[in-house]
Amino acid sequence: MSRTLYTFHGGVHPPEHKQESSVRPIIKSALPQQLFVPVRQHMGEPAQPCVAVGERVRKGQVIAKPDGYVSVAVHAPTSGTVTAIAAHPVPHPSGLNDTCIHIQPDGLDEWVERHATDWRDTPPSTLRNILRDMGIAGLGGAVFPTWIKLNPGRAAKVPLLLINGGECEPWITCDDLTMREHADGIVQGAAIMRHLLGAEQVVIAIEDNKPDAISAMRKAATQADYPLEIVGIPTLYPSGGAKQLIKVITGREVPSGGRSTDVGVATFNVGTTLAVHRAIHLGEPMISRVVTVTGNVHTPQNYDVLLGTPMHDLVAWAGGHVDPVSGYIMGGPMMGFDLHTVDAPVVKATNCVLVKSDALFPPAPSAQECIRCTRCADACPAELQPQALYWFARSKHFDKAQDHHLFDCIECGCCSYVCPSHIPLVHYYRYAKSEISAARQAEQAADHARERHETRLARMEREEQERAARLAQRAAAKPANDGGNSSPSDAVQAAMQRARAQQQTPNAE
Ligand code: SF4
Ligand code: SF4
Repeated sequence: MSRTLYTFHGGVHPPEHKQESSVRPIIKSALPQQLFVPVRQHMGEPAQPCVAVGERVRKGQVIAKPDGYVSVAVHAPTSGTVTAIAAHPVPHPSGLNDTCIHIQPDGLDEWVERHATDWRDTPPSTLRNILRDMGIAGLGGAVFPTWIKLNPGRAAKVPLLLINGGECEPWITCDDLTMREHADGIVQGAAIMRHLLGAEQVVIAIEDNKPDAISAMRKAATQADYPLEIVGIPTLYPSGGAKQLIKVITGREVPSGGRSTDVGVATFNVGTTLAVHRAIHLGEPMISRVVTVTGNVHTPQNYDVLLGTPMHDLVAWAGGHVDPVSGYIMGGPMMGFDLHTVDAPVVKATNCVLVKSDALFPPAPSAQECIRCTRCADACPAELQPQALYWFARSKHFDKAQDHHLFDCIECGCCSYVCPSHIPLVHYYRYAKSEISAARQAEQAADHARERHETRLARMEREEQERAARLAQRAAAKPANDGGNSSPSDAVQAAMQRARAQQQTPNAE
């Protein structure tokens, strides 16, 4: 019996541009001359380097350890020598540099010892720690540590494991090719995730513009020793968004500000699922990922790329640009961001390097005034009022923007896509979110400073009282030199006064 599918509000049909890069198989990329491996590739705390400059490292060796709860390890993508631990350009909208471990490959590609784990005989907490130490983070874009998401916590189990093969963003085909070429590994990875979550149902959802991926996954699913459903869903951007996919498959709405587990669902990207299989069954950490290189290049293609590879290498492997380059996007045209430099390396979040030209991406016409047409609201899959958010962000009424659920915006770009006034709406939302986050951080810093000050005052008060008590004790123990007229309480008062006087005198002790 086929599953009932549901629809979400809004959505758009941008030109897909999938064909360009999906007609060729994944190529295993060559070793670059130099790798720049950022210690911050996942959401949460950056990993802490644990190697020294000049040290020889082997492929798969931990080079930075997880630091804190929301963190995962980082590994050497190949064998070679650490030449520096220093700031280097990283792919981030800010364009700022970040700490990278620079490795000069030695060409041997020599692995550390790898150990497979029998997950059926291993406690869940140990399996999750292995995934943390193997550096597994979500490859769908959020790069959240997978080991945390695979902990059902107090709920004890998450009923539905939903593997996301939507890949709705135009131009990007890395998940499509991963499903076609690694369907068995995805099925095996999903078995481990199902076990950890205690999930009763497992569904792999794939947009129906990927018929080859659907048939490869259906064939692999016949070998699964657990119930596994492969579901083709209608192609509509952004059906690959976690909340939208949950709505399509279950009909349930994730509440505002809530998580998918609030409605009994855990979602993972297909690439992450494959990485879980490799980490547990093969003992291989996350040191590479599939990246689509497309747009204004001679041979659009998917590459299995070592993390830390400079993006300019990828563009060169794809035959270089065809027309003059007008820019580079990491990700797709809807949700990606402009790269400041292709010297930045591939990281766990890099699903696509999209090379732009004016022919493929004509410069946007200048923005006009909002004409209150409400097309943006009709297209918004989060059922927000994008035009209201725009006004509040523009006028810096950030509290009102929050009241209108700014943080439910998934930055999908549907509103900007349909806006007849060509207003770059998402830019305003990103700006408002970053201003609010900065204000929250400043508030937290002020709270910490106040707490520190109050703690210091309390400590000084306590020390004063302790000192006074000591002085009083000494005074009481001494023979009276005032003719025996002062009482013990007079002695305490006198001691308190002396202590206060000492404290008010700089450098008194
Ligand atoms: S970017 Fe935000 S406001 Fe615009 S359509 Fe997407 S979710 Fe709605
Ligand atoms: S689509 Fe553009 S012009 Fe129309 S209401 Fe939204 S912001 Fe205004």
